[in-house]
Amino acid sequence: MAIRALAISMVLWCGAAAAGEPVFDMHVHLRDGQASVREYTADVAAAGVELAGYGAMWFGGPHQAPAGDPADIARRNDALIALAAANPGLLPIAIVHPYDGQAALDELARVAGQGVRVLKLHPHTQRFDADDPRVLALVRRAGELGVTVLLDNANILPGDSERLFNLALQAPKTQFLFAHMGGMNFRFWNMLAAARTADALFMENISFDISGMVALLADSPIEAEFVWTLRSVGIDHVLLGSDYPQFTLGPTVEALERLDLTDEEKAKIRSGNALRLFGAGIRPAADAR
Ligand SMILES: [Zn+2]
Repeated sequence: MAIRALAISMVLWCGAAAAGEPVFDMHVHLRDGQASVREYTADVAAAGVELAGYGAMWFGGPHQAPAGDPADIARRNDALIALAAANPGLLPIAIVHPYDGQAALDELARVAGQGVRVLKLHPHTQRFDADDPRVLALVRRAGELGVTVLLDNANILPGDSERLFNLALQAPKTQFLFAHMGGMNFRFWNMLAAARTADALFMENISFDISGMVALLADSPIEAEFVWTLRSVGIDHVLLGSDYPQFTLGPTVEALERLDLTDEEKAKIRSGNALRLFGAGIRPAADAR
């Protein structure tokens, strides 16, 4: 078992080294603060992957952000911001609940004032409807503040991608990042290529992280369709993520390597796009050494 693990890590190490570029992991859940940072970075190092940075949230797993207690959400956002200050490479991803109304708008402005550049929202586990006007008000405000909205898009809820498409259409000045690129319904997003042919409808405000999906779909019977979708939405709009701790970064990077993409396309997905979008907001991870 140990030998097999060593062999796998050697393969991963060679893969990452051959790629010659550090990786930006857009999707990391830190369930236990600094202890989780230690576990996560140790796991990445053990896989031989060099980290350019990582988008991290306290939200997820046992930590949910239901409506009705915005003070608790603010305390946890503050703890994450403190964690980012202590850990080079950590891009803090705050959260609010849209149904908290004005309190959510105030919290968004407050964390943006402290340098937060990404806001997570999760319609399924936070139990809100992406069609609700309070969601539109919140994401429009995020756009005004220069905050990208990371929305879960695993398609557990019916109509998930369709609702998010409409939300992005109604908030053209807000940048969106849809996590998991539609899950197993990723085919829907090929619609973007068609939508962009409409007059004055550029839909350039939608990007995707392929956390979970890349590990699931590499070597699958529908891998070619997945790669075709990545090109339809635009390689410049695709970011790598692990969704740690549900998935880990080493196998995620290795799955990306197996996709039938060019080296240039892989480099953009591995870190180029994320560094272009969020690099200014983080201290380089290399500072940690
Ligand atoms: Zn996640």
